[in-house]
Amino acid sequence: MTCRRVGALLEAYADGELEAEAVLDVEAHLADCNGCSSRLQLEHAVKKSLRRQVYAEAQPNDAFRERILASFRAEAERTAVANLDEPSHRSGMLSWSSIVPLAAAAAMALLWSAKVSDPKQSAKTPGNKTTIASVGPASVEQMLEELVDRHIDRSKPDVTEPALLLERMEPEVGVPVHFPSLAQYGARWQGGKLVKIRQEPTASLKFLVDGHRVTVYVFNSEHFALGSPLKRRVIGDEPVYTGWKRGYSIATADRHGIGYAVATDLGEDEGAEIVASLH
Ligand SMILES: [Zn+2]
Repeated sequence: MTCRRVGALLEAYADGELEAEAVLDVEAHLADCNGCSSRLQLEHAVKKSLRRQVYAEAQPNDAFRERILASFRAEAERTAVANLDEPSHRSGMLSWSSIVPLAAAAAMALLWSAKVSDPKQSAKTPGNKTTIASVGPASVEQMLEELVDRHIDRSKPDVTEPALLLERMEPEVGVPVHFPSLAQYGARWQGGKLVKIRQEPTASLKFLVDGHRVTVYVFNSEHFALGSPLKRRVIGDEPVYTGWKRGYSIATADRHGIGYAVATDLGEDEGAEIVASLH
């Protein structure tokens, strides 16, 4: 792909709107081209500040929220009274008095969901040394998919002796892979395996906690962006990013270049706590 062709696709790429095949082509080019990588960083920076402004203006303020809630309450009272004597209710039809609050509720839900996808939680800011090829919501989604794929994979482990993890995995993964005992959670060690996440070698370490499977991933955090659609939380002063994929909770953290991720069917809080305990 030429720089010109990539330039034309960059905005759609940053929005996560490209077809999978085009994403691969663009990422292959970005990996080798500093010019286009910088343009992408600029694209992200501009979008981020734009989004911040739009969302700031779209935030419902307290007075507005109070007005809506008051009108819900009034409407609910009216509907309760209407229910007693309105034939349409007895025949199972919705009257306008119940449809209007539903529409208002839907509008509120929209406002609240806009709030949840806060732009401050989106991908790493330019200047961070994240590999540009893996920046963007679409690639975080893809990473989550692969973390879940590897989590539910039941193939045999490569390493079952905890003492061998470091020497077997560090050369491949590129960062130290220490055995996380997770003893404080009563975890039973199942074994480790070298897997690929977003084409990067990653250590997958499996445990059982109260009969629930927990996979701890260790990777070189330069290869991954921890951002939107993951939610940023702070646990014990350390930022942790959490989210859900296909019914599994995922929690990830970056500790001085060593990336950790936990995939589990335990809850989001448990996953976040486990990932925060890793160093
Ligand atoms: Zn280029």
